[in-house]
Amino acid sequence: MYRRTVRLLVALVMVMTGAWAGTLATAGTAHADGCYTWNRTLSRGSSGADVTQLQIRLGGYPGYGAVLAVDGDFGPATEAALKRFQSAYGLAADGVAGPNTFNKLYALQDDDCTPIHFSYSELNDCNTTWSGGAVSASTAKANALRTMWKLEAMRHALGDQPITVTSGFRSYACNSAVGGAGNSRHLYGDAADLGAGPHSLCTLAKQARNHGFRGILGPGYPGHNDHTHLDHRDSQFWSASSCGI
Ligand SMILES: [Zn+2]
Repeated sequence: MYRRTVRLLVALVMVMTGAWAGTLATAGTAHADGCYTWNRTLSRGSSGADVTQLQIRLGGYPGYGAVLAVDGDFGPATEAALKRFQSAYGLAADGVAGPNTFNKLYALQDDDCTPIHFSYSELNDCNTTWSGGAVSASTAKANALRTMWKLEAMRHALGDQPITVTSGFRSYACNSAVGGAGNSRHLYGDAADLGAGPHSLCTLAKQARNHGFRGILGPGYPGHNDHTHLDHRDSQFWSASSCGI
C-alpha cells in the first residue's frame, strides 16, 4: 500500500514536471519574437553568433567604467555581465544563459531586436535613413542598437522610469544643421543625447558610468548644460564638472 502510494506520487510528480516543462517551452516560444531565438544554453567557453547576440543585450551590464566586448566569445567578462543582468531582474545569478535568462530577454525585446523602451526611430530623429554619416548605414544602425540596450539597462537601474532621447544618429548634413562637432559620435550612430526629466541630467551622467558608455558629457562641459551626451568612443572621456564628474 505504502509503496504503491509512493509509486503513484512519483508518477504524479513526473507528469506534473513534464507538464510544467511543456508550459515553460510554450511560454518561451510565445515570447520569442521576430527578432532572435536562442537554441542552446550558453556559459563560459561558449562561442558563436548566439553569444554575440547575448553580448549585445548585456552591453549595459559591464560594471563601472567597463565596456563589454561584442566578440562572440563567452569569457569571464560576459559571465560577470550576465550575472549582473540576472541579479537586476531577480533571476538566479549563475552566469549561465538558459531558459530563464532567454525568456527575460524575449520579454525585453521587440520584433526588430530593439529593447522594449527604445526604438530605431527615437535614435534617428534627424534623418529618415541611416546613411550619410561617418560609417555605413548598417554599422550606424548596429551601433544605435547597442546604445539602446545600454540605455535599457540604465533605465531599469534608475527605477524603470522613462529616459528621453533627444538626439541619436546624424548624417553629416544633420550634424551641420544642429551645430554638432565635426567629429561628433552622432555621425557614427553610437551617441545619444538625453533630456532631463524625470531624472536630472547629473543623475543620468553619473548612472551612465555603470552601463558601458566610454563617452559621457554633461552639465559643466561646454555646450552640455541642457542635455547629457553618451557614446561609445574608443577611449574613456567623462566630463560633467557640474555633476562632479
Ligand atoms: Zn550628443
